[in-house]
Amino acid sequence: MQEKLSGAEIRQQFIDFFVEYGHTFVPSSSLVPGGDSTLLFTNAGMVQFKDVFLGTDQRPYSRAVNSQKCLRVSGKHNDLEQVGRDNTHHTFFEMLGNWSFGDYYKKETITWAWQLLTDVWKLPKERLWATYFKDELGEIPEDRQAAGVWLQQAGFDPDHLLAFGRKENFWEMADTGPCGPDSEIHFDRGPEYCQKSDDPHHVCQVNGDCDRFLEIWNNVFIQYNRLSENELVPLEKTHVDTGMGFERIVSILQDVPSNYKTDLFMPLIKYIQSLTGDSDAEREANLTPYRVIADHTRATTFLIADGVVPGNIGRNYVCRMLIRRSARFGMKLDLNEPFMANVARIVIENYGDFYPELKRNAAAIMDSLTREEKQFKKTVAAGLDHLDEILSDLRIGGKTILDGALAFDLYATLGLPLEITRDVAQEQGLDVDTEGFQEAMEAHRLASGAGEIFGEMGGEDVQIYADLLAKLQQSGELRATGVAYSPYQPIHEPTEILALVRDGKAVDKVGVGEQVAVLLPRTWFYVEAGGQVSDTGQIVSVNGNKWTIKITEMQKPAAGVIVHIGEVLEGQPKVGDRALVQVDQDRRHQIMRNHTATHLLHAALQDILGDHARQAGSLVAPDRLRFDFTHPQAMTRQEILAVEAHVNQAILANYPLQIAEKSLEQAMEEGAMALFGEKYGAVVRTISIGDQEDLSYELCGGTHVDETGDIGLFLITFEGSVAAGVRRIEAVTGWRAYQYARERMNFLDQANTFLGTAPSELLPKIQSMEEEISISKKRIKSLEGKLVKIKIKEQNQLSYVPEYDIQYLTEIFPNVDIGALRESTDIFQDNYTSGCIVLGSTDSNKNPIIVTAITEDLVDKGLHAGKIAKSIAKIIGGGGGGSARLAQAGGKDKDKLREALDQVPNILKNMLDEKKHKIDK
Ligand SMILES: [Zn+2]
Ligand SMILES: [Zn+2]
Repeated sequence: MQEKLSGAEIRQQFIDFFVEYGHTFVPSSSLVPGGDSTLLFTNAGMVQFKDVFLGTDQRPYSRAVNSQKCLRVSGKHNDLEQVGRDNTHHTFFEMLGNWSFGDYYKKETITWAWQLLTDVWKLPKERLWATYFKDELGEIPEDRQAAGVWLQQAGFDPDHLLAFGRKENFWEMADTGPCGPDSEIHFDRGPEYCQKSDDPHHVCQVNGDCDRFLEIWNNVFIQYNRLSENELVPLEKTHVDTGMGFERIVSILQDVPSNYKTDLFMPLIKYIQSLTGDSDAEREANLTPYRVIADHTRATTFLIADGVVPGNIGRNYVCRMLIRRSARFGMKLDLNEPFMANVARIVIENYGDFYPELKRNAAAIMDSLTREEKQFKKTVAAGLDHLDEILSDLRIGGKTILDGALAFDLYATLGLPLEITRDVAQEQGLDVDTEGFQEAMEAHRLASGAGEIFGEMGGEDVQIYADLLAKLQQSGELRATGVAYSPYQPIHEPTEILALVRDGKAVDKVGVGEQVAVLLPRTWFYVEAGGQVSDTGQIVSVNGNKWTIKITEMQKPAAGVIVHIGEVLEGQPKVGDRALVQVDQDRRHQIMRNHTATHLLHAALQDILGDHARQAGSLVAPDRLRFDFTHPQAMTRQEILAVEAHVNQAILANYPLQIAEKSLEQAMEEGAMALFGEKYGAVVRTISIGDQEDLSYELCGGTHVDETGDIGLFLITFEGSVAAGVRRIEAVTGWRAYQYARERMNFLDQANTFLGTAPSELLPKIQSMEEEISISKKRIKSLEGKLVKIKIKEQNQLSYVPEYDIQYLTEIFPNVDIGALRESTDIFQDNYTSGCIVLGSTDSNKNPIIVTAITEDLVDKGLHAGKIAKSIAKIIGGGGGGSARLAQAGGKDKDKLREALDQVPNILKNMLDEKKHKIDK
């Protein structure tokens, strides 16, 4: 083997090798899969090419090479608990791949793989093994072609070619769709790597499930389309999709026994070691926390760079959980101050040249990490203590499983993610009922009225539309790429109804009042994307029988399919009818104003607050725009006004908008802002605003005004928090902004008319009135208190509990505060030598309150004011207590106050009965 290459060099050599053979380098797509609500994170290299294989997206290249950022935190591909405990599991990892879209096939890709591994990287040929597909059921043909290519490779040992069945060597994207055989390349690390040599059942070989034979590269040959479980048809065009685990190949080329020992991780681990002061031997003896911290910090650094900040649901939850889990493993190393930002700094240094988004967002990454660590310390430390108590109770009770609802409670109230609870429990030999946790979370989600975390998955509808698409493509009624999308074209030509779907079934015609999904070969309606809502409008008949369908919703139920959803207002639309699409233009214009204003707002926020203020989500609707962005604290009023003024200045300057299509590479080089969660193809649409120098330059597929002056007026109506570190602004534009301002001015005018003031006098006037009111209130309070005292003094007849010869007084005084009630009981005690008083009122929130006092002699008899208050509190729906002589209570049900006071004689009697009963005993 040659001199050790660095990880960065290995990645670059892979890319250069394939670029040399005519491949286009395609940058990694975001960890947040664009336009795919079914996937939490990008988990493989093929995610960004999925639509190319499905035939609904086309690229200007037919050969590609990439290094894709991937994240796997759960599901069949990864168990988080394994991460850090062994040599190979990670949450974040990179996948190297070469791709052929209907271009080269098995011969080329296998030959190149062999050449790269043995010629360029000089791996010993005798250590390499290859597999190919042979169906154990004999239904799908054996992949003799791949086997044949392997046997032609110079120096490849024919004994190292092995056949495997469907589980190992047949790849499928889903239950239906593109699929095909694959060929894996394995590297033999030597018998000393086998950790199962003691296991008598272990056969040490390729796919033998030990660390000796590492799968390093999988070459997938996509040559079939699966229509159903038993129906496989050959594809016209065949493709190649390969994936090589980057961390793994680096560990082999650097000849280290673990991914964590490569230069991808060692700098992080060494830094953590410098904080703990451990010796190398101590570190090796306690390796798990080091690995977890290195893995999770690397993962969250990439996540935050892609716009995923710590939060409570979905992707944001994963980000939060990984940081908190890393912080807890830090505690095991006695790292009790925030430290991850400095680990992230090393990640950014080591990866920033290849993944420039890390450098661009360095400040936001480090800031988010530290803030989340601090929050963890503040809230979660208490949760961990509480968890320890619960677990020790469990053990004492002889139980081994922590209740799922309890684990959820720890999360909901103390911010302890399930994953951490499970870590802690497992460290103590216990387990957590994760199903129960999910149930409790689901129940909570339903109870709190929160929506689905990831929208709808499409369900059965997908199949109907996929079938329709296939049929229409075959008949030539639809292009290979599916429905044409023309939301930017102002002219709407007549078209034709290709299909109508009602209640999940394709139908020939529909009638008045029916809900229908309409499929046309082309649409001019914008379909919700990039935060901009879908257009609405109608589809009408062009000639023949007259009909109208009102369109309220747009959907993309399957790749390549766009449908218009709405209700038939008149007539009977049929498949094959000529049709004209009419987008609601007023609404569209309002949306365009808001969209362009969103770009100006984004630019203004970065200007005023700094580059860390990045988009974290947006909504562009006709009546308003909403913009979420990363910023650590609330904006000051000055900042809000400055941002608003910035946007309005840009509107008044009436800048033209330049809309262009160019390569993603060029746009990024020119400094265009890409937004996370958006899917970008090789050719992107860019929107730039400004004269000489761009004020704003973004990748965007939305619809926009021609000149900023069209926006009219921009007003911010709200600024607030959405999640830790994420702020939200809501704003209005155009006519809506005028209405908003007019409405505000009307209120002001009315107030001025009413008070007889000029606008500038209004505030001083209100302030002086407030002062007067507060003085008056105080006077009323004191008078009311006096009134109560007088009434109590004047009371000449107390009520009576004859059985025990006890006098008492109950009275309700509206709107008297609890202090005055307490004082009044003093008057009672001064005026009566023996007795019990209970006074009720309501507080400023209209909730019932009571005060009770008894004289000394009644205490001796066995009464207790605190207990009386508690009994009354039960009736008014609250709590109370106090000393033997004086007590108070508050409740929620003021209608029960009278009833409660009527119960006083019974309460007194019961209390004394009980006492008597005890003495009798
Ligand atoms: Zn083995
Ligand atoms: Zn936009």
